Amino acid sequence: EATVARIAAGEVVTRPASVVKELVENSLDAGAGSVEVAVENAGLDLIRVTDDGHGMSREDAVLAVERHTTSKISGVDDVERVRTLGFRGEALPSIASVADLAVTTRAAGEGASGTRVTVGEGGTGVEAAGHAVGTTVEVRDLFDRVPARRESLGTPKREFARISDAVSRYALAHPDVRFRLTHDERTVLSAPGTGERVDALLAVYDRTVAGQSTELAAVEGGGDEASDDGDDGGGGGRDDRADGGDGEGRSDAPAVRVEGVACYPSVTRASPEHVYLSVNGRPVRDGDLRSAVLDGYGSLLPGSRAPIAAVDVEVPPDRVDQNVHPAKAEVRFRDPERVARTVERAVREALSTADL
Ligand code: ADP
Ligand code: MG
Repeated sequence: EATVARIAAGEVVTRPASVVKELVENSLDAGAGSVEVAVENAGLDLIRVTDDGHGMSREDAVLAVERHTTSKISGVDDVERVRTLGFRGEALPSIASVADLAVTTRAAGEGASGTRVTVGEGGTGVEAAGHAVGTTVEVRDLFDRVPARRESLGTPKREFARISDAVSRYALAHPDVRFRLTHDERTVLSAPGTGERVDALLAVYDRTVAGQSTELAAVEGGGDEASDDGDDGGGGGRDDRADGGDGEGRSDAPAVRVEGVACYPSVTRASPEHVYLSVNGRPVRDGDLRSAVLDGYGSLLPGSRAPIAAVDVEVPPDRVDQNVHPAKAEVRFRDPERVARTVERAVREALSTADL
């Protein structure tokens, strides 16, 4: 109920970028090694996301577009499920309620033909259709049926910037996945999926801006020495977290693992810093983490240059609540100081030991 209460379907799809975000998360959940995002007219005419993930059977594809069929979490104790990016089972039905939706997909081992499920004003249609193993989701005429939503949007330029920012953040959080973003058939972003975060960063910023960069990494702790109050069910923690549940699986996992890349930008710029953060592969905005990155730069960066960094934090799923709000990239760590300390140290050590 606590989980369910946080979820309001309408809030998932507020603008084109939120559609892109949901579809990209689904592709990543499906284990995609390649995600292609094509948009037309800032996503209002078309958003198409194609992946090479595991695809869906016909049955699953039909279920996926129906409301309330795929909610994978029955309560906050189901922490294992939080490991995947999505868990609400609401995105596709929500999108279908404000746009024309077509899902074309094929699961491995399903023979030559896949399935195309369409949801539009004429109802739901299902037919055989060719597709490589993986999935293509097409969203057309977003918010045409919801003029108030459409009017609340910014200019197409502004909305596309949000899409571009979202895809950039996923590319930086998943350097092992190939990402491509096209707008009105023009390639805007192409991240190679080499597994090197710096390659993803250079896809977002060209080298002349990013300047020299250094990989960073730090691992903090294995045990629960800092603040575990888990198994005795004591107070302390926040009330909506899966404290009591399973005690297994946390003992040997590091409490915090930080990976990323920090740049010495080559140009002096008046614009603010670019600190891209992700937690367990999910892009987040978090003031404390951002500050930790900036503290890590400290005095190591000439004051006239703004940091550019991409930092991913991995923590065991029971140590973070990433679903505070479905449409906002908020995150609550169980031990925020420890995470911040590890991030700061990773950045500082990388910059101070790098040959820049
Ligand atoms: P959620 O991701 O919260 O489960 P969604 O509405 O986003 O809910 O998706 C519903 C379900 O459809 C997913 O759980 C998944 O099983 C399936 N699905 C959606 N997109 C994809 C995809 N690109 N590849 C494989 N399966 C998908
Ligand atoms: Mg989803």
